[in-house]
Formats: sequence, C-alpha cells, structure tokens
Amino acid sequence: MILQVAGIQYDSIVDGPGIRLVLFVQGCSHRCPGCHNPETHDPRGGKPMEIVQLIELIDNCNNIDGVTISGGEPFEQAEPVAALAGAVTENGLDLVIYSGYYIENLLKKSLIDQNINSILAKGRLLIDGPFLENESDLTLPFRGSRNQRIIDLPATMRTGKPVEWGNPCFSEELYSK
Ligand code: SF4
Repeated sequence: MILQVAGIQYDSIVDGPGIRLVLFVQGCSHRCPGCHNPETHDPRGGKPMEIVQLIELIDNCNNIDGVTISGGEPFEQAEPVAALAGAVTENGLDLVIYSGYYIENLLKKSLIDQNINSILAKGRLLIDGPFLENESDLTLPFRGSRNQRIIDLPATMRTGKPVEWGNPCFSEELYSK
C-alpha cells in the first residue's frame, strides 16, 4: 500500500510531546491562506512510499517518543494512514495526528469511513482545524492558530463528543503507560 509523502523529520520537538518522527503527507485541499507548508498541497507532488518501508524506517528510530502524522491532510489518504497508524501503535508508540478538519466533522465522516474511524481510534492526540491567519499565535504549543485544538482522542472516542486535552504541561500524563 502506498502513501504519498511530502517529507520526514526525525527529531521534532514541536509537533507533539517529546521527540517525534514527523511524517508530512502530500496533498491538502484546505489551502489555508498563510499555510506554512504550501509545497504539500498538490496531491501529485511528493514521493510515493510503501507503508512497509515507512514502518521499517520508524522501527529503526530508537530515540523517539512517538510518531506524528502531519500534512498536507492525512485524512485525504485515510486508507494508508490507517494502516500506518495501526503499525505505529502496535509498536507501542503514541500517535499524534494533524488535520485541517475539526473533530466534529471527522466524527461524522468516521460513521461512513472505517479508515477514518480507525485513525481516530488509534491516535492519542489530534490537532484539529484549519490554520487561520487572523487567529495566528506563535506561542501556542503544537499549533499555529487559536482556533485549533489539542483533542484527546481516546476520551473523544469513548464519549462520542470532542474532549480537549486537559494537560498543557504534557509530560508525565502522556508517558505513564
Ligand atoms: S490544513 Fe494544514 S497543510 Fe492544509 S492548507 Fe491548512 S495549514 Fe496547510
């Protein structure tokens, strides 16, 4: 199975808690004005990579706390992203996902798309919503604009309602496995 990939960063500390491998997927139809990754918009760009190849690459990273799937828009390649999400969590790594969709919209989509449901069920945190230039704030952890939220996915999936992550200090709570 192929995922169209825009790039990989191996040691990010700004895309979720701890040190993370960040996979930027290619293709995004949101086209937010002021987007920091405009080169990821064209779905024909980037590089096709096999999911097994990406899993191997993640397996060989010994110093990471988790994996972040960013974009681009991960939910526009839901099938390969769901496969990758499963492999990441089976390996005991926590998963953070970015999306230009709000969680309310993704929950609706998940009712008719099993892959979307699977991604939401595997993830630990979702940074949701489009980047809004007039809400831009560089001081926010993990996100670029004030409308975006850090969603606690296990709690959200349990209750069926959006639950924001309640611990902005983000160290012990996440890693007390
Ligand atoms: S959703 Fe993200 S990648 Fe897509 S245009 Fe908006 S900020 Fe850029």
